[in-house]
Amino acid sequence: MEQIGIYKDGQIYDLQTVQELGIEGGEAIKSDGSAHSLEILRHSTAHMMAQAIKELYPEAKFFVGPVVKEGFYYDFKVDTPINDDDLKTIEKKMKDIASSKYPIEKYTATRDEIQSKFKDDELKQAVLSNITDDTLTIYKQGEFEDLCRGPHMPNTRMIRNFKLIRVAGAYLGGDEENEMITRIYGISFFERSELRDYITMHEEALKRDHRKLGTELKLFAFSDNIGAGLPLWLPAGARLRGKLEQLLYKAHRIRGYEPVRGPEILKADAWVKSGHYANYKENMYFTEVDGQEYGLKPMNCVGHIEVFREDQVSYRDLPMKFFEYGVVHRHELSGVMHGLFRVREFTQDDAHIFCTKEQTKDVIIEVLEFVESLMSHFNFTYEMEVSTKPKKAIGDDAFWETTTKGIMDALDENGYSYGIDEGGGAFYGPKIDIKILDAIGRKWQCGTIQVDMNLPERFDINYTTSEDTKEKPVMIHRAILGSFERFIGILTEHFAGEFPLSIAPTGVIIVPIADTHLDYAKQLQKELQEIEIDTEVSSKNESLNKRIRVAEKQKVPMILVVGDDEVANNMVALRDRRTREQSNITKDEFFTMIKQTQEKAKI
Ligand SMILES: [Zn+2]
Ligand SMILES: [Zn+2]
Repeated sequence: MEQIGIYKDGQIYDLQTVQELGIEGGEAIKSDGSAHSLEILRHSTAHMMAQAIKELYPEAKFFVGPVVKEGFYYDFKVDTPINDDDLKTIEKKMKDIASSKYPIEKYTATRDEIQSKFKDDELKQAVLSNITDDTLTIYKQGEFEDLCRGPHMPNTRMIRNFKLIRVAGAYLGGDEENEMITRIYGISFFERSELRDYITMHEEALKRDHRKLGTELKLFAFSDNIGAGLPLWLPAGARLRGKLEQLLYKAHRIRGYEPVRGPEILKADAWVKSGHYANYKENMYFTEVDGQEYGLKPMNCVGHIEVFREDQVSYRDLPMKFFEYGVVHRHELSGVMHGLFRVREFTQDDAHIFCTKEQTKDVIIEVLEFVESLMSHFNFTYEMEVSTKPKKAIGDDAFWETTTKGIMDALDENGYSYGIDEGGGAFYGPKIDIKILDAIGRKWQCGTIQVDMNLPERFDINYTTSEDTKEKPVMIHRAILGSFERFIGILTEHFAGEFPLSIAPTGVIIVPIADTHLDYAKQLQKELQEIEIDTEVSSKNESLNKRIRVAEKQKVPMILVVGDDEVANNMVALRDRRTREQSNITKDEFFTMIKQTQEKAKI
């Protein structure tokens, strides 16, 4: 391990800067894979990538190359389009640069000097326009130099274990109004073994990519004819989604929730009242109806408040729980949309629970039980995080203090452990975020539970107390999946497309060996449909092996093969997709098995 920098007063200094400024003391940063050391390594790898690109594409101009959560990227502009196939060539060039062991040198220059040095480079001019300093620093390795604050490794030889991940488009400076330039993402480690592990994990994630599986299994699609971020649910995907909706519907009803439904478009006045107009307007879509401004709902809260107002609510009615599969629209920048994970229209499994202050804790505990039940159904483990008051917030300090404490008490008293996200709350209240861990250990933000005493105040809704006085209820917003779109994306990757029977778009495929077995197959199909198992009969004019292969590729939970023996004895040959073995069981045994699985599939 070598020293590559110093960490002092919350800042990373590379060795070049330590020497330049004569910095003493602080904590040594060694090439040990710590967060600070990786920051130096990865930023240096980004520069080395830029150097390689410059050698391969001499016309290349560079914007910025920051370190991000997963590695680094560099934004740049070239005349010839670059695609994923070119990454190997760039990597090879980077390896040459590494073995040349160029020292990485730093020098300072005045703003004017830099302005003239890069006078034909509009991207550098754009970078410069965001900096006010008069003296700037340049890092130089071999022939390549770049305007940069650092930090950097001492030489290119120390950058050995890297991989370029993908090419993407990016708006210059992240602004949609600007031109689209090229971005390459990469990763870099000190140890070869760490890079190997990363690549293995990355390949597994690619195999599970829900966009790829979504196309292969014909679950959903996106079309330019419709618009970006607006998913189309194909028949198989719509069946899967429908099953998830039904499972969840029953789970809500058992827990005393009432289904309600509000409109998708509401008067802008309602959004003024809710605070969304002042705090969330840039993410909403507006239109005009009969000369009045209307907004497409980004949340379902207002509709549910109006439902609450429809009744004379007494303390005896509380807690009152309304749920809705609420379709909402939120404007996401086109650069951040990603399959089903980030879309502009989605459906929340949204509920609002109105209760007394005293009931708040019990209501939260009950919601946590719901979360537990749902997560264990899909074999997810999960973590929780409490988010506190953000900078942009409404409501007084007393409200934030008591509600935040209430949430933490509910978690503490029930033995839940949780993290804290300081300042991460919604603008109207603190919240619990639910983060699930999938089959390959990735973390996903899903549902939230938010406590809100502000909206009932703003909309002036009340219930009658036992003393016949009026009191404002507490409103708890909660979604467990978060949205059907995102959750189904996560489920697809978690199960690698091999969905359990409870939600699989097709539960059973029956493959008759010959036409003479078709009637028996169809009879089986009918009986399975009757118990709500979506079943297909594979009767195309193709060889038996081909039809079995096609069924296996569809990743259905169960494949049944039926021939002479099965028809004669009222049996089925159940095929295991993974081991490719068949077991012969009676039809009754098969149906008992299905029903037992269905019985267990409760949330
Ligand atoms: Zn740099
Ligand atoms: Zn809400």
